[in-house]
Amino acid sequence: MEKTYSAGATRFVLDVAHLDIMRGARIALIGESGSGKSTLLELLALILRPGNATCFTFTPVATEPACDIAEIWRTRGSDQLSRLRSRHIGYVLQQGGLLPYLSVRDNICLPRELLGMERGDVAERLAGKLGIGQQLDKLPSALSVGQRQRAAIARALAHDPPIVIADEPTAAIDPLNAERIMALLVELAAELQVTLILASHAQSLMRRVGFTLIPHEVSAIDEHTMTVKVSNG
Ligand code: ADP
Ligand code: MG
Repeated sequence: MEKTYSAGATRFVLDVAHLDIMRGARIALIGESGSGKSTLLELLALILRPGNATCFTFTPVATEPACDIAEIWRTRGSDQLSRLRSRHIGYVLQQGGLLPYLSVRDNICLPRELLGMERGDVAERLAGKLGIGQQLDKLPSALSVGQRQRAAIARALAHDPPIVIADEPTAAIDPLNAERIMALLVELAAELQVTLILASHAQSLMRRVGFTLIPHEVSAIDEHTMTVKVSNG
């Protein structure tokens, strides 16, 4: 699939030639700032629509039939896409994206409530594992940046999604804390059998915590157009 952005006389082209992500994988998109990592994550999260897509098959649950996303994009099935997204995908933004007027507990439980699921003890359980069990009654503004990212990770996992997508989730955190949080995320994902797809420019950290790296390679550049190619096949 391909996604093009034009800004004035310049164009950015993301060319995803072939990308296979197996269930349970840990995938890190690696590239410089501006190489299209966020764009690709948004495509994979069914938030963004590509310019063209010949084939995109999505099988989030092994026992359910595959979804032909390319066909849904062609037929403009936005409701279908948002249903698939809210049920199967947890998303962690670079700056957390917690709602400022909800407590940490309510933020974490929100994806479940939107799906009509019981809250249960999911906030306590996940927050405990992520080391923020004492922060649940506070507003996000009372937390440190690292604690907020931990809460954002808990929120992304709260509705038991098979896939978690995270956009540079530790970019704003000091290196030691970043490594701890990344290790926790990996441990939790393994325990919950979640497929992890994230963007990072911290190549060595990603390798250390066991991710398969997928580079965003600039394949062509001239004064007007930069083309970035992504492929793992
Ligand atoms: P990264 O996450 O690797 O930093 P992005 O995916 O954010 O890269 O951006 C890739 C390129 O696409 C950049 O040149 C950026 O300016 C451009 N871009 C991203 N989003 C938009 C948009 N909504 N409109 C126009 N250009 C965009
Ligand atoms: Mg980005």
